[in-house]
Amino acid sequence: MKLRIADFGLLISARAIRWTLFGALLVTVVGPARPRAQAPPTWLEQYREPARRLIAEETKDAFAWRRLAALTDTFGSRLTGTPQLDRAIAWAIAEMNRDGLEHVHTEKVMVPRWVRGTESAEIVEPAQQPIVMVGLGNSVGTPAGGIQAEVVVLHSFEELDAMAPQIRGRIVFFNVPFTAYGETVRFRTLGPSRASRLGAVAMLIRSVGPAGLRLPHTGALTYASDVPAIPAAAITTEDADRLQRMADRGNRIVVRLKMEAHADPDVESANVVGEIRGRERPEEIVLVGGHLDSWDVGAGASDDGGGCVVTWEALRLMKALNLRPRRTVRVVLFTNEENGARGALAYRDQHRAELSNHVVMLESDGGVFRPLGFGFTGSDTARQTVKSIATLMRDIGADSIAAAGGGADIDPSAQAGHVPAMSLEVDISKYFLIHHTQADTVDKIDPQAMARCAAAVAVMAYVIADLPFRLQ
Ligand SMILES: [Zn+2]
Repeated sequence: MKLRIADFGLLISARAIRWTLFGALLVTVVGPARPRAQAPPTWLEQYREPARRLIAEETKDAFAWRRLAALTDTFGSRLTGTPQLDRAIAWAIAEMNRDGLEHVHTEKVMVPRWVRGTESAEIVEPAQQPIVMVGLGNSVGTPAGGIQAEVVVLHSFEELDAMAPQIRGRIVFFNVPFTAYGETVRFRTLGPSRASRLGAVAMLIRSVGPAGLRLPHTGALTYASDVPAIPAAAITTEDADRLQRMADRGNRIVVRLKMEAHADPDVESANVVGEIRGRERPEEIVLVGGHLDSWDVGAGASDDGGGCVVTWEALRLMKALNLRPRRTVRVVLFTNEENGARGALAYRDQHRAELSNHVVMLESDGGVFRPLGFGFTGSDTARQTVKSIATLMRDIGADSIAAAGGGADIDPSAQAGHVPAMSLEVDISKYFLIHHTQADTVDKIDPQAMARCAAAVAVMAYVIADLPFRLQ
């Protein structure tokens, strides 16, 4: 996942403020009496039974978890342009056909191919010691002998700019403790070029994640086009703290960084698509999905194999229960979210003519832990409809609707087509511990929580696809 979760702190405070104002208004207008609960809309009644069936079918066993385990055990990590991702795409096509989905096919996408190679970092002064690191995605490599330079420990871009005369020829190290993803991820994405602009020869960051068990977190960087690209890597929080203590003692710190990372020419990949065709308005589409690619560390279970499986489950369940909604439900497993978002852009461009026929787009790319509900971006009328549908998920605890929704794979299409965008929202307390690390494996995911995620997506997708009116 990318920046979506970033905004949570802001959203919550904005919501809290709005509720406070709302409360104050109520007291002023109607006095201290309790507001009357709104009666559910009449159209909701017909969906209670299908919602119950979808939830019961999904939560009766651990099908979704087993499918995710099969995906991640068999193919492992699925970096764009690797044979592992190609095989996972072929597997997904075969499995979708086996589920009885309709119009199952791939849509070609040309994608960047970034190769990590071997990599290492070590402290050379004050005494030789290894550092646990991982190169950042899209980074360039070092010369074969590595880059050896004195480290300057910094904590903000402001501090970097203030130290401008002392940056040339140094390795810049941003030691910024993780707060929220959106707060700290900018040092990973923008840090390398900010440092390069002042003459730095390489950049290190403290991993974008809470302290774990000496696991470094990778993730993409973005080079500015007008400064030299310098190698960049993340180090563990433990190693970051160690460098900080050395700096605090006044030690001169020299580090040697070796990275073989490089980019090969673009290769062919694909988005995977499957459908349940609508019985009355097949041209209107409810899109659900996640991204099948992952970083090359870990197995891409939470990011984002789980998101692929729980959204795909919506269609498998409808097929299994013989529920064919009025409109088409389409699952898309996007390629290349992590290091290029080319799958997202290709979908927007290849489907431009029918974007206005998309009723809603829903992405799951924030983990499949205990579900809380959905984020929603769209009109107030549509939000009220979605809130009513969410009441059908009360028993599985997935009935809250947050202030904003979307995802890296659906946002380009949703923006181009003015399509309401949704995200599955889950308990993220464990997510950033494993995000983009070797520990992103299926054992971190609870089968029952994952089943609830899938059931929530299935109910939301089915009801929106079947509503007697179009969500708008
Ligand atoms: Zn992701």
